[in-house]
Amino acid sequence: MNDGSKVRVLAIDDNVAIHDDYRKVLCGWSEPPSALDGLESLVFGAQAREPKSNSRLLFELETADQGQEGLAKVRAALAEDRPFSIAFVDMQMPPGWDGLRTIQEIWKLAPELHIVICTAYSDRSWDEIVATLGTTDRLLLLRKPFDPNEVLQIASSLSEKVRLQRISDRRMHELTNLAAELQCVNDRLQDEIEGKEIIAGHLRESATKDSLTGLRNRGSLMQRLEGLPEVGPGCPDRIAAIYVDVDNFKTINDSLGHEIGDRYLMGVAGRLREAQDELRGMESFRIVETYRLGGDEFVVLLVGPISVEELEQAMENLRTSTAEPLKIGQKMMPISLSLGASGSGGRKVQPEALLREADTAMYRAKAAGKGRSAIFDEAMNRELSKRIEIERDLHIAAAESSFEVVYQPIVDLKLGEVVSLEALVRWPKRFGTMVTPDQFIPLAEQNGTILSLGRCVLRRACFMARAWNSSGREGSPVSINVNVSRRQLQDSDFLSDLDRILEETAVPPALLNVEVTESAMIESPEIFLRRLQEIRRRGVRVHMDDFGTGYSSLSFLHQMPLDAVKIDRSFTTHLATRTTSNAVMSCIVMLAHQLGMKVTVEGVETREQARRIADFGCDSGQGYYYAKPMPETDVLRSLEEIRRRLRVVRDSELTLVGPGERVR
Ligand code: C2E
Ligand code: MG
Ligand code: MG
Repeated sequence: MNDGSKVRVLAIDDNVAIHDDYRKVLCGWSEPPSALDGLESLVFGAQAREPKSNSRLLFELETADQGQEGLAKVRAALAEDRPFSIAFVDMQMPPGWDGLRTIQEIWKLAPELHIVICTAYSDRSWDEIVATLGTTDRLLLLRKPFDPNEVLQIASSLSEKVRLQRISDRRMHELTNLAAELQCVNDRLQDEIEGKEIIAGHLRESATKDSLTGLRNRGSLMQRLEGLPEVGPGCPDRIAAIYVDVDNFKTINDSLGHEIGDRYLMGVAGRLREAQDELRGMESFRIVETYRLGGDEFVVLLVGPISVEELEQAMENLRTSTAEPLKIGQKMMPISLSLGASGSGGRKVQPEALLREADTAMYRAKAAGKGRSAIFDEAMNRELSKRIEIERDLHIAAAESSFEVVYQPIVDLKLGEVVSLEALVRWPKRFGTMVTPDQFIPLAEQNGTILSLGRCVLRRACFMARAWNSSGREGSPVSINVNVSRRQLQDSDFLSDLDRILEETAVPPALLNVEVTESAMIESPEIFLRRLQEIRRRGVRVHMDDFGTGYSSLSFLHQMPLDAVKIDRSFTTHLATRTTSNAVMSCIVMLAHQLGMKVTVEGVETREQARRIADFGCDSGQGYYYAKPMPETDVLRSLEEIRRRLRVVRDSELTLVGPGERVR
């Protein structure tokens, strides 16, 4: 063996003389010839003391007389971790185990051990041996008497085999280690890949799922709609979208805080899921999926051979699933949904169009009173086309600044003269037709064109206010009222725009009144409170428009930094006929005056109404009775004319009442 360690050989033979023979042959051990030499030549023949090769130095021999002793030596060698590589075992070893039994026992302990069984011709045949020990490459047969060269040759070739085996084992061990290391690296890579897959999965999920409710989001709805097979004529399947909007959610969110708002939305999503599961049990709905578009808007997508009645039924199910109030903390909070649906009806659907139609139907349902549902129809289709057209033209008009401003006088009831002019936007469209603000302001708010439109109106109105007040006309200065919508107030550039316009037009801030609507204030009071304070800090006055059309007006009045309230036209119309209008009007006037605010009344159309509002103690009035909105070129002339007209009215009333009596 070239690794320096010797090959350990065990010889088991009951004839101790033979032990020495093995020693001589394998270890080169020599002694002066003795009486035993005779016996030696008996076993090994004439060459018993023959050549001593270097190979002998490779062996380390141990001997045993009996099988049991041999087994014990094998066991001890294993325990010391110095196992034998080769064993020579005699076949007949009375009185103990014979060779076969010995080998059987040894192999139980050391199955790798190479064994040479030594038999005389009279002993067992090879077949018998194999029948007992089985066929193996670890067993050789050596017939007695041995030739020492044979023993040496066998021992050498077996030791070479053992050496090669050891090298192979070592290599195998190294390979196994290497394979284990590779396996480790592989496992690590696998872990990394799995980790990356998990992250990618999370990313994929967050790209398609809404994190608050766990429902799929708008992107995934669009993908789904685009991926649906076409449902053309002849196919019984329909694709329907139900647009779901939570009524009054903004008020809940603003008044109870975002945490409650989030929990409320999660509760609503849970209820929609329950309804979805119920719909899935119905035959006509092959696909039922719920998505959250954002905010308080959800969409339920339905695919299957759905009839209009079944679509209505599905909406009914969605509403009944939310009939029970939600329990959030200690509060029971009712849910009200407005639903709008649109179906493919056998035509190819464009995802955007389907959702816009469902959205339009939902708006129609909401406008009819909250908690209702509607299905998109022809009339809505026409309305939608008009809306789309106006929206498109609005963008163009905003880009070209093609809006005009008209002005409507506001008259001081005590002075009997115009103290302010309200700027009202007009949109001159094709063929000289005017589009009224009611038709386009809500759309301009939705698509954001209100921002540029509002800036144009503010700039023009301020410019004109400056011009009219420096014209040298008679009477008190006339201020300008400009409507500012909720979207404008929310815009972070609003205050800087206002500063720039005041500076550019050099109008005194005290001559500018900003009109904000009550509904804007109710939706997000904290934001508006801060904005209004900022506006007033600049010396600009804030008037609350359309007062009385919202819900909590009176409770808001004392919290808001306001200079005046404008009582909505709806009260003026019924002044003479309804006692409630009278009561509300006198109540508002009293409260406003106590809070140091002025009161203007809108929509004064008759002399009678003008007289009544003066009786209630209102400060000013606005309406067709005094003047309709007019182009800027008519304003100066109109101011004079109104003054003259009001003087005539006052004089005639004085005549009617008689000298010495006071009017009102
Ligand atoms: P508003 O601010 O309450 O304006 C008063 C509206 O009532 C005006 O309608 C005016 O023409 C109308 N009106 C005035 N007196 C009478 C009357 O005696 N009888 C009747 N039946 N109506 C009368 P208009 O100009 O159609 O404006 C409608 C609304 O559009 C305005 O209501 C205002 O909220 C909004 N708006 C108008 N111009 C602008 C603007 O430049 N910016 C913003 N954000 N909103 C505007
Ligand atoms: Mg107004
Ligand atoms: Mg108004």
